[in-house]
Amino acid sequence: MGMEAIPESPELDGQTRLVGVIGWPVAHSLSPVMHNAALCRMGLNWAYVPLPVHPRGVGDAIHGAAALGFRGVNVTVPHKQAVMALMDRVAPEASAVGAVNTVVMTRDAGGGVILEGHNTDVDGFLGSLRAGGFEPSGGGKGVVIGAGGAARAVAYGLLTAGMVEIVVLNRTVSRAQALVADLQRAGAGRRGVGRPSRVRAGALTPEGLQAETQGATLLVNATTVGMWPKGNGSVWPDELPMPVHLTVYDLVYNPLETRLLCQARDSGSRVIDGLGMLARQGALALALWLDTSVDVEAITVEMRRACLTALELRQQSPRQQPADEMVE
Ligand code: NAP
Repeated sequence: MGMEAIPESPELDGQTRLVGVIGWPVAHSLSPVMHNAALCRMGLNWAYVPLPVHPRGVGDAIHGAAALGFRGVNVTVPHKQAVMALMDRVAPEASAVGAVNTVVMTRDAGGGVILEGHNTDVDGFLGSLRAGGFEPSGGGKGVVIGAGGAARAVAYGLLTAGMVEIVVLNRTVSRAQALVADLQRAGAGRRGVGRPSRVRAGALTPEGLQAETQGATLLVNATTVGMWPKGNGSVWPDELPMPVHLTVYDLVYNPLETRLLCQARDSGSRVIDGLGMLARQGALALALWLDTSVDVEAITVEMRRACLTALELRQQSPRQQPADEMVE
């Protein structure tokens, strides 16, 4: 795979509009690279900056960014839940998922700032799933592994898109049960295509995986297993044959070809990597900030290309890899 040049950053001046990402840590997030590449390609006088914010400073950071005239910020681990309480408005999908990953900052007539919280992970995931060739509105059963913030966005997205049965398997079962209870409370299944959906929780064991993937059409890894630098792990045990006719989606994008995806490819399944979701949630955030009709597909392609280049550079120079990989 040849490396594409990442466009250079624009000159900053008094007209430059600012956006950024708050997280802790944030130094190795791919978001600045991919957003600046897209902004530059679009010829906009905007800049996207990484903003390391300690958990104690989240409120100050959000209000400070608003006071400094930022158009908005992305929010990453560990602040996605904490920022919700600071919002004037929270979009329905962010409220149902219980996490905000994009804040839009606007001014009212009196100069006051209005903070709007969104969650673009949901549509970022669904869009990349469809781009990978899987249509969730056709019904079917999906198995989601993991019960953290990403799994919440995935399970909610699949239910609202129309899958009829979702099983959430997690190492810590109580966390999967809490996720399921929250989705049921939010009525996620009822917002689908009119069919009642079922969502339930279970334990992440070889027996659970074997039983629940029978009859399933989709398997999603939303855990950190397989992510650099924790080794070449997989949530799927080697000794367990993987059912054929599954689509296997791994949210992990570093490395791009995880062991789970290799196992799935070997068993004849369709595979989708996590970079599509990363790029698409970024493109959707940018569309919210720009507030005009933009070509989300083209921005997604540009962002994905910039991320690939950055990942290749990090692989060539491992010292550039974070000690603890960023979870977007
Ligand atoms: P999180 O809230 O910290 O949740 C981590 C999940 O991984 C939990 O379910 C945890 O299980 C599970 N886990 C961790 N170590 C495990 C192990 N050894 N065996 C089994 N399960 C294990 O993280 P998150 O924000 O949901 O992110 C999860 C993954 O999604 C990360 O790899 C992140 O990079 C990826 N992600 C990708 C995108 C994208 O755009 N592609 C966006 C968001 C996240 P317990 O509950 O038992 O601890």
